[in-house]
Amino acid sequence: MISVEAALGRITAAFAPLGVETVPLAETLGRVLAEDVAAKLSQPPVAVSAMDGYAVRAADIVSLPARLRCVGEAPAGGSYGKELGSGEAVRIFTGGPVPAGADTIVIQENTKAEGGDVTVIAATPPGRYIRPAGLDFRQGEIGLKQGRRLTPRDIGLAAAMNLAALPVRCKPKIAVLATGDELVPLGTTPGPHQIISSNGVGLAAFIAAQGGLCIDLGIARDSIEQLRDAAGKARDADLLVTTGGVSVGDHDLVQKAFGQIGFAADFWQVAMRPGKPLLFGRIGRLPVLGFPGNPVSALVCAVIYLAPAIAAMLGVAKTFIATQSALLAIDLAANDHRQDYLRARLSFDAEGNPVATPFPRQDSSMLSCLAEADCLVIRPPHAPPAKAGSRVSILALPSVPPV
Ligand code: AMP
Ligand code: MG
Repeated sequence: MISVEAALGRITAAFAPLGVETVPLAETLGRVLAEDVAAKLSQPPVAVSAMDGYAVRAADIVSLPARLRCVGEAPAGGSYGKELGSGEAVRIFTGGPVPAGADTIVIQENTKAEGGDVTVIAATPPGRYIRPAGLDFRQGEIGLKQGRRLTPRDIGLAAAMNLAALPVRCKPKIAVLATGDELVPLGTTPGPHQIISSNGVGLAAFIAAQGGLCIDLGIARDSIEQLRDAAGKARDADLLVTTGGVSVGDHDLVQKAFGQIGFAADFWQVAMRPGKPLLFGRIGRLPVLGFPGNPVSALVCAVIYLAPAIAAMLGVAKTFIATQSALLAIDLAANDHRQDYLRARLSFDAEGNPVATPFPRQDSSMLSCLAEADCLVIRPPHAPPAKAGSRVSILALPSVPPV
């Protein structure tokens, strides 16, 4: 039995960044940028106004009120086209190019228009409300660095840089196989002693949220032949994830079945709860992660091991597990030798500190608690008893995909 850290280290070390594909910008949400990309142009291309008002020479509005001749207009997308002379003003709008000769924008609210003239009635410091050319970014400047998971903000920036397509990592193809004689597919009616297979569906959603592509291999019965044949269908995948059948029961046949097609185990069993019977190894070049069948165990193992494995294949810059801290709402007993992940609710106390309340029942079959949980409270091996109000490490369970 190895530690969570050792298991995680061995799993992530087994994966390298996948290839690169070029994707239209509009389809890159959540994808991982594979190369640094540079702006194709400068923004703004020329000095523009940040406000609706008048472009003036600062020297003309030193003493107020100052009456200036309004000689033209500079709307966004247009231009005054001439140089502004002394005693002149140009009506300008947000995004309108600042005419040559002007060095200050007086906002409309600080002026009075009278016939063809405009009177400036409030002081404006020189240079005010002018956005110089290249304020946001300059042509050739690196706008986005490789390794980022692209957010809507990144996509907006790339669009402003006129990057119509971006080089992103290919999505990891992850084959998912549920195993168990008791399982029937979603949407069917279970017979006596049967249950719906929820692991495959949950893991498929998890994989999609992490930026992978799920290849659903369905359900294999607890039979050497079926398990072996199903694994054969994962040949084109970057990783095979199975659930169930990796424990020590008579019907836990995954290791044995895969052994017949060349499975070499790296490790089996991790000192954690839930998720002790975790299997990792390879069938030829195909990495295999064998998760326990209990739905909570499978999904907690996905958070702890599958997400980093996917991140490693995507070349995500930050692959560490982001732990935070919270105050415990209840007393906890001393822990044994296994690292515990307690499903918990998160709330905030009067000072705004996060407070974690573990569910009283931590059975690894109870998806209802997991779905409701906001975080996992991490109890390291041999942790001493912890009193309510003490600080613990937590792993947040985001309610939206990490994009
Ligand atoms: P196992 O790891 O095969 O011993 O399974 C442990 C528990 O998880 C058993 O109660 C199984 O019925 C349950 N289980 C296994 N696979 C699934 C699945 N795909 N969906 C829901 N429950 C499962
Ligand atoms: Mg089973």
